[in-house]
Amino acid sequence: MPGLMEGKRGLIMGLANDRSLAWGIAKQLHEQGAEMAFSYQGEALERRVRPLAESLGSDFLIECDVSDMDALDATFATLKDRWETIDFVVHAIGFSDKNELRGKYVDTSLENFLMTMNISVYSMVAVTKRASEMMPGGGSILTLTYYGAEKVVPHYNVMGPAKSALETSVQYLAMDLGPDNIRVNAISAGPIKTLAASGIGDFRYILKWNELNSPLRRNVTIEDVGGAGLYLLSDLASGVTGETHHVDAGYNVIGMKAEDAPDI
Ligand code: NAD
Repeated sequence: MPGLMEGKRGLIMGLANDRSLAWGIAKQLHEQGAEMAFSYQGEALERRVRPLAESLGSDFLIECDVSDMDALDATFATLKDRWETIDFVVHAIGFSDKNELRGKYVDTSLENFLMTMNISVYSMVAVTKRASEMMPGGGSILTLTYYGAEKVVPHYNVMGPAKSALETSVQYLAMDLGPDNIRVNAISAGPIKTLAASGIGDFRYILKWNELNSPLRRNVTIEDVGGAGLYLLSDLASGVTGETHHVDAGYNVIGMKAEDAPDI
């Protein structure tokens, strides 16, 4: 049986190492026959990303800081040089000053608020605009969000409003691009220990809390996220757009602490 992604090409943005959510998604896309390019932020990360990309049969790496619109233009020009069209993009990028991912949200500085919104939200809009121009026959674009967009999670602070804005952006982008058969969705992943997550204060407590209280009584893995990513990026999800799909062991449905959950 041919793979679900056979004949499809796309860009993976936000791979840092083999713990990245982007890696969980890329691995499953590869298994199903997708051809991928990878963008990375800065030379230091290239050393990590290149061997990972090569292990999935890709030598197509592009350096791109998404806060720089010229760099984004150059990235899509490089992509277009090799591939006239693409079928999918994974946007797995978020950033905030870790000094403000502890303490109180009320203390957020204007500078960090704007930077967080720029890198974690506006970049999705800017990427979608450029990607859509390379999707004449339609396509699928995916971003990553977190429950802190919906409810208050300690220390998530400014990332909460940023993820809310990201999820709303997914809806507006889906509406704009729906007539071109371009689908835009988000996965709301449960907490997973990654480089980005390590910047969040008391992240181990968040992990433990989710493990003990989610319906599945466990945390999710990048493989769980990868399976959902594959679905949303493939034609299996041809009727799905504007959606925030929870891959969180069911945690988002919980209203109060589970009866049998031990104290932590
Ligand atoms: P990660 O550290 O592996 O990935 C974050 C990526 O963002 C890195 O590759 C980093 O280089 C990139 N990035 C940051 N600033 C950038 C910039 N200016 N230009 C280009 N790239 C930039 O961590 P991750 O947890 O895999 O994060 C991926 C996405 O998943 C993020 O949006 C994150 O908020 C989201 N997410 C993570 C979790 C979790 O618990 N780990 C849960 C839900 C959602």
